Amino acid sequence: MSAPSHDMQSDSRTVPSSVDVVIVGAGLSGMYMLHKLREMHLSAVVFEAGTDVGGTWYWNRYPGARVDVESLAYSYSFSEELEQEYEWQERYPTQPEILRYAQHVADRFDLRRDIFFRTRVTAAMYGEDGRTWLVRTEHGDAVTARFFVMATGCLSSSKLPEIPGLDRFKGATYHTAHWPHEGVDFTGMRVGIIGTGSSGVQSIPVIAAQAADLTVFQRTPAYSLPARNRRLRPDEIADMKANYRAFRKAQKESGFGLPTPIATKSALEVSEEERNAAFEQAWESGSLVNLLTAYVDLAIDQKANDTAKRFIHSKIHQIVKDPQTAAGLCPEYPVGTKRPCLDTDYYETYNRENVHLVNLRRTPILEIAEKGIRTSDKEYAFDAIVYATGFDAMTGALTNVDIRGRGGISLKETWHAGPRTYLGISSAGFPNMFMITGPGSPSVLSNMMVSIEQHVDWVIDAIEHLDHHGLTTIEPTGQAQEAWVDHVNLIASYTLYPKANSWYMGANVPGKPRVFMPYAGGVGEYRKKCDEIAAQGYEGFALSP
Ligand code: FAD
Ligand code: NAP
Repeated sequence: MSAPSHDMQSDSRTVPSSVDVVIVGAGLSGMYMLHKLREMHLSAVVFEAGTDVGGTWYWNRYPGARVDVESLAYSYSFSEELEQEYEWQERYPTQPEILRYAQHVADRFDLRRDIFFRTRVTAAMYGEDGRTWLVRTEHGDAVTARFFVMATGCLSSSKLPEIPGLDRFKGATYHTAHWPHEGVDFTGMRVGIIGTGSSGVQSIPVIAAQAADLTVFQRTPAYSLPARNRRLRPDEIADMKANYRAFRKAQKESGFGLPTPIATKSALEVSEEERNAAFEQAWESGSLVNLLTAYVDLAIDQKANDTAKRFIHSKIHQIVKDPQTAAGLCPEYPVGTKRPCLDTDYYETYNRENVHLVNLRRTPILEIAEKGIRTSDKEYAFDAIVYATGFDAMTGALTNVDIRGRGGISLKETWHAGPRTYLGISSAGFPNMFMITGPGSPSVLSNMMVSIEQHVDWVIDAIEHLDHHGLTTIEPTGQAQEAWVDHVNLIASYTLYPKANSWYMGANVPGKPRVFMPYAGGVGEYRKKCDEIAAQGYEGFALSP
């Protein structure tokens, strides 16, 4: 597997032996956490496995990688100066543009001096006597801290497929989440790609335009809408900058962290003509939430959802010329229950003569061979294979670290039947440990920027509360945690989400418990709950002197 080439050096600065807070991860979460802690005059270090800031936008450098939330909304809101001075170029910026933004933030707020790059945290243990965490890194560093913050990301623990023979292939292999920094030139190559989630959908058109031949191995098709990406116009940037405060408020109160008109009608109470016009408008708008929120019942009623499904199927059949290929690209699970995609020329790409779709439901992959990929039907020869096979999402990066709480209990073992958190921020038995966008919070069902800032702000307030009242630890009670887990499950059970084999459900990792992990109650409602809990003296948490 080709990996970024300069990731093997280690950081030569000395790691402090004790700080107020250890943060793991220098993505958008860890960066903001560090900035806020500095404002409180607390000492903090950040450990980051990569060689620079940016997290997702540092690692996922595959061709076509972009955000699918608009740049002016997928950006920090904590600094008005930053908002006003930063110039976004595109409606849906590319990975390099978002990485540049993260780097700009790191420079502007002088964050790097407290970040240790190329340093993976391997273990963290809570000491009940000293009420501190002892955090260990792969280089043998050991740091004690009052607070331990896992800002390790929901989608940072990448996953190769469970297919025999992965090491056997003699050509080049790439995972979308570990793309070489120097890029890859596929010109003239026969390329095979496994995976048609968001990373596959974004990279397939770009690779197809370059490679001699591209074969797409699809197990489950994706629902995708055209992004209609474009350069931002000066007038719309100026307009947003003039109205940013109102927009940010609306983001925070919305369901997905993106202001959208509130639907009032059922998809089943309107005529087919009216419904298709509404879906057409969403399709033309290049915005996923416009489709998902077009009617009140798309996420909860199968028949209502079927109307959106039929609409997208008809679009696929209109775009893709070969009817058999078009049929193969039409998903059957409810729209939105696996993460939908925004694309640029995805379905159109299947009209190219050099692109071939292999339906793995009909002819499964048997093995990776020396020369390529062998399915039940035939062997395909390739010069390169791309794995767009996703992540051990939401829990992978947390359980990869050997985290031990009270009495040495292991987070991984405690979560063997699925993650158990209170608010997705903390877990019983792990005092003073916080997760940014952890399982049980809206996280991946939202514009993550909004959810990241909300969690960091909440954690900062909690630490301030402890310090102000001379308290040392905060930890959810078992009872409050159980009630929250039940609530998260109950909300999910009202929706169609559990109907799909998604990574939201842990279904993409063999042996992972089938639990719907994010909180589906919406960003605005969730924020209200978190604020109420804080206002009531951190109800459901045990605070100790
Ligand atoms: P990350 O960006 O994942 O950062 C976590 C960091 O922690 C990583 O740099 C990792 O190296 C580090 N780390 C993890 N474990 C350790 C360890 N043990 N020791 C040291 N370091 C460690 N969200 C949206 O809202 N809209 C989008 O359009 C969108 N597009 C996405 C596209 C892709 C390709 C992916 C993968 C995700 C996308 N997301 C999107 C989700 C995205 O992850 C979040 O928006 C956001 O960037 C997460 O920031 P983070 O800091 O919480 O986590
Ligand atoms: P993903 O959505 O989990 O997609 C992985 C793909 O690989 C799926 O099609 C999956 O098929 C397939 N796959 C996995 N194992 C396989 C196997 N053994 N054999 C055949 N196929 C296999 O991962 P992703 O595309 O990297 O996206 C993950 C998440 O990151 C997204 O859902 C989104 O939240 C975020 N993201 C966002 C964007 C964006 O546009 N902003 C871009 C990239 C990523 P099955 O579905 O059958 O499991």
